This record gives sequence, structure tokens and C-alpha cells, in this order.
Amino acid sequence: MISKVKNAMSTLVGGMMPHGHHHHHNHHPCGGQTCGQDSMPPRFPYGRPDFLDLTPELLQYSTEHASRPVLALKRGSRLPWGTGYAEVINAGKSMLNEDQASCEKLFVRKPSSKHRNSTLLEDSGDGPGAAIMASKLLHRLIRDGLGEICHLLENPGHAPPICLAKNGSPYQVEVKKGATQEPEDPEAISDCSIRFHMEKVVSLESLVMGVIETAFKQMDDLIEKEKTSYAISGGCCALAAIHLMGKLYVANAGDSRAIIIRNNEVIPMTNEFTPESERQRLQYLGFLRPELLGNEFTHIEFPRRIQHSELGKKMLYRDHTMTGWAYKTIVEDDLKFPLIYGEGKKARVMATIGVTRGLGDHDLKVYNSNIYIKPFLSCIPEVQVYNLDENKHGPDDVMVMGTDGLWDVTTDREVADAVTAYLSCCDPSDPMRYTLAAQDLLMKSRGVLKERGWRLPNDKLGSGDDITVFVIPLAGHESET
Ligand code: MN
Ligand code: MN
Repeated sequence: MISKVKNAMSTLVGGMMPHGHHHHHNHHPCGGQTCGQDSMPPRFPYGRPDFLDLTPELLQYSTEHASRPVLALKRGSRLPWGTGYAEVINAGKSMLNEDQASCEKLFVRKPSSKHRNSTLLEDSGDGPGAAIMASKLLHRLIRDGLGEICHLLENPGHAPPICLAKNGSPYQVEVKKGATQEPEDPEAISDCSIRFHMEKVVSLESLVMGVIETAFKQMDDLIEKEKTSYAISGGCCALAAIHLMGKLYVANAGDSRAIIIRNNEVIPMTNEFTPESERQRLQYLGFLRPELLGNEFTHIEFPRRIQHSELGKKMLYRDHTMTGWAYKTIVEDDLKFPLIYGEGKKARVMATIGVTRGLGDHDLKVYNSNIYIKPFLSCIPEVQVYNLDENKHGPDDVMVMGTDGLWDVTTDREVADAVTAYLSCCDPSDPMRYTLAAQDLLMKSRGVLKERGWRLPNDKLGSGDDITVFVIPLAGHESET
């Protein structure tokens, strides 16, 4: 590690890049830690992931925006599965690195000895408080949730049915192994449907997904609750990968991303949540509860701001029911600022945030107003499942998890090509190969400091954001549960 850092240092010259990257929380009205929280202690102190095992000197060194040293896993330390890790701080947009990562093998409590791996990535806006907290606690909440369904995980198919009441009439929930699998005993199930009004087959997979979704909600509530006693600044995006019983569950709330690279083919494991991708959900909320928009915003989208002089004229618009555009006559209400405004990376919800899912940010308001952003910022992740056991993997097949700092400048295809090229040249027995691949990805996205800022080999601007990357090998876990 030390030699790596020194090496990075010696090849770079000092210099600071101006804040070029518009981060999703860039209009934060209270600027992070200073929101009347000065007197409160932080919930967790700032630090880098424990597995990096940084000395205080290296921790200090890791925050040097001028040189942006690449931090990677030490040779000799090992993450579950031999997972690779590397990170680099931003070019000066915030004092500390707002990305936080954790990677642990946890055991689900109760009589079972089942275990799982979980890898987490959190990327925050305005102070890393929420991200630090989530990186310490979210995977534990997921583990605790799994503990509660442990009896079902133990013995799928033969588990005691869960009986729920709906409209007063009980119905049976049968737990079986996979959604696509034939019931082991079809007669037993049809027997159930005779006995009960309604029967729903709940797969084990969807139970695990429910645990993960619930854990994100609990995490969000916990941040809100503990804000009264601790300085927990801002909010964060969260991306979590959980391995359980032969399947990978990837849960995303925000703009981090995970892809699987199998045979140099890209399998996306996340979707990005932006004002554009979630336009209809946001507009629908504004439509149902116009009071959330104050008197300042309209849920209807127009291609541009409307002038007062255009009242009574026709203008293209779309609302929560529409994908396409149509004409409407402009009325007074349409002069309000659009709930969703701007395109691509500049798209914002209520002129404030560029991501629409995340944890925390309960206090975030529209600048100079009493309008809260949180109802629109959902903490619920989208969970995708990858069946690890049913696919064959070679040593160069991996899952890459990265924060937006990586994906802002590097496409899925470029990441896949870079990783595949790197790993194919790398000694297959080198335990560091995935960390080296992560480090290589990071250097390719950060670039090198030139006279005009951080530049990529093609002279395009490198990422000025914090960048964090996990490279997780997919082969060789067949025997693990
Ligand atoms: Mn961002
Ligand atoms: Mn970021």
C-alpha cells in the first residue's frame, strides 16, 4: 500500500481542479455539517473502510485533493471471495471522501449457520455523515431481517406456511424454492386453494428481496431518528450486493451502479434513478399531493419555462400519465417552476437534487423555502437477482460495483473491456488481481493531472468526483451457501 501510494505521488504534480462536477446535492441549503448540529457529536467518526487498515498518516494522506492518491487493498489482506477494492478522493469538491464502502461476511443469527457476503457502497452528498452510518449499519439490518425469516431459509418447501389475514379471511402463503420452479407437490397446493379463499405462492427469493427493501427503509428511519442526537449530515445513495444461498441480490437506491461481466459481456444489475427515469412517479406524487409542491412548483412538465405573456397560448406538455407530449392551453398554474427541470446530468427535482432515491436528507429543503425534498426522494431500492449457481464462471468473470464517480466518465462497455483486458494479462494465481483491476479502472477514470485539470488518455476530462470500485470474482463459490 505504502509503495503504491508513494508511486502514485511521484507520478503526479500538484494542482487543484475547480468544482466542475455538479453533484446531486449541490444546492443543499445548509451545506452539510453546519446545520445547527455543531454541538452534536458525529454518529460515527470519519474514516476510510476498516479493511484498508490505514495509519493516521495514510488517512491524512488519502484526503490530498491535489495528488489524489489511489488507495487499494494491501497485499496480504483479503476480503471475502478475494474481492478487489480501490478508491480515490475527489478533486476538491468536498473536503472529505464522501464515498463509503464495507465488505463483510456476516452470519445470519438463529440456530442456522448460514452465511452470506455483503458488499456495500454509499455515496453521499454534503458531508459523509449519512453514508458513514449506512456503511456501518445497513448490512447489519439486512442480516437481522434475514434472521427473522431464518426458519424459512432453513428448509424451503417444508417450511410451516405463513398465515396472514386479509379482509378478515386467512389465506395461506406457501414458500417454495424458486419462482420458476414447479411446485414439488402440486396436489398439496391445489388442496390449499380449496381450503382457503386466496393463496399466494411466495418464493424464497422474493422474501429475501422484501428483507432488503425493509432494511433500507429501517436505515432511512434510523438516520432520521438519530439526527436528533447526532450530527448526521446530508443523505447518501446506497448500493448493496448480498450473496445468499447461491444467489446474488443487488439492491440500488441512487446513482451508483453494478454490472456483471461474464465472458466480456455486460449484464447490468442496476438501473439509475434520476429525475428523468422517475419522472412519472415524481409527477404522480405531486399530482396526488399538490401541497408538497408548496405554491411554487407544477407537476406538469414543459419543454421550457413559460413566460407570463404566453398565457392562453398552446404549449407542449406531459404529465404523470404520459410518455409522449401533447398540447395544452397555458393557464396561470403552468407558470410555476416545473417539478422536474433540466436534461441529462442537469435534470433536477424542484431545482435541488439530481437523484431520486437515497437514504437520509430528511431536512433537505428547496433553497429559500419551506418545501421538503424528502417525500420525492425514495429510500426504497430496486433489487435485482442473479443466479450465481446456475451460471458457469471463469476467473475473469466479475461483478463491478462503482460509485457515480466511476460511471460519470466510463461506460459499462469501457469498464468491461478494461477489466477483461487487465485480468487476461494478470497472473491467475495472484491474489491481488481483482484489486489491481479495480485500481486500473480507477486510474482510467481519474486520469492524470495536466495543466488543464485531470485528463484521460483521450484528453477528455477525468472524473473529479470521489471514485470507489469493488471488483468481485464470480467463480468458485458453488459450494458456498
Ligand atoms: Mn452524483
Ligand atoms: Mn459521487
